Amino acid sequence: MPSWIEQAAHRGILTSRYPRERGSDAEVPPTGRAPVPSASAGPTGAAIAGCPVGAIGPEGVEPGRCIRCARCLAHGYRFGGPVEASFRAPPGRAGPEGADVGDEPAPLAPLGRSLHLFLVDVGSCNACNLEVLALANPFYDVSRLGLFFTNSPRHADVLLVVGVPTDAMVEPARRAYDAMPFPKAVVAVGVCPCSGGAFRGNPGLRPSLGDILPVDRFVPGCPPTPVQILDAVLRVAGRARREE
Ligand code: SF4
Ligand code: SF4
Repeated sequence: MPSWIEQAAHRGILTSRYPRERGSDAEVPPTGRAPVPSASAGPTGAAIAGCPVGAIGPEGVEPGRCIRCARCLAHGYRFGGPVEASFRAPPGRAGPEGADVGDEPAPLAPLGRSLHLFLVDVGSCNACNLEVLALANPFYDVSRLGLFFTNSPRHADVLLVVGVPTDAMVEPARRAYDAMPFPKAVVAVGVCPCSGGAFRGNPGLRPSLGDILPVDRFVPGCPPTPVQILDAVLRVAGRARREE
């Protein structure tokens, strides 16, 4: 039986090359991108009426509301928005190109030191949790970038929040944020903390995580892919991927 070293040499490196290289199609499948109208189709009345969460308006698709249900694909849309598409400000109605608005904050780790991540679920369906935790698996292996998960907010630099904010989780989320030392950042993962997602308007829910915490980055998607979550974390650290 070949040794594990021989097996590894045979397989080669399987770990993601992101952010050194652009996210592959396997890492960011089509549904990982916001819908955009095809060249011939603008925001038609049928597409606007058919969107279950009101994500399509006359100016285009609001990524921070889109739950990627694919209904608009029947009306000339396709999943083709940018891979890295997090927001600095709470999502407004804007096309994918116009989504990145607001002042760029100071980098969280200007000297490139390691960062510790703390995950809080304020009311998710569990899918966003799985995408966040995938960052620690051998494929994404974010420890290669100096990123580590911690079990205590007292050791955390970045608070990752998943789910639509429920009334019951407002205080626990605030307590976790208050327990973190400065400097610190908050990344809202998924369309739920952006705008409520599919649950928007239900009783007992807050419209956006931005109403209860100072969010530095909103990552749209339902759920977003690990690459997109990683991009947002690297952005608050001032270490985001740049095109050559
Ligand atoms: S994918 Fe669904 S939620 Fe998103 S814009 Fe299209 S119809 Fe609306
Ligand atoms: S954004 Fe979508 S996948 Fe993530 S918790 Fe909400 S419903 Fe689930």
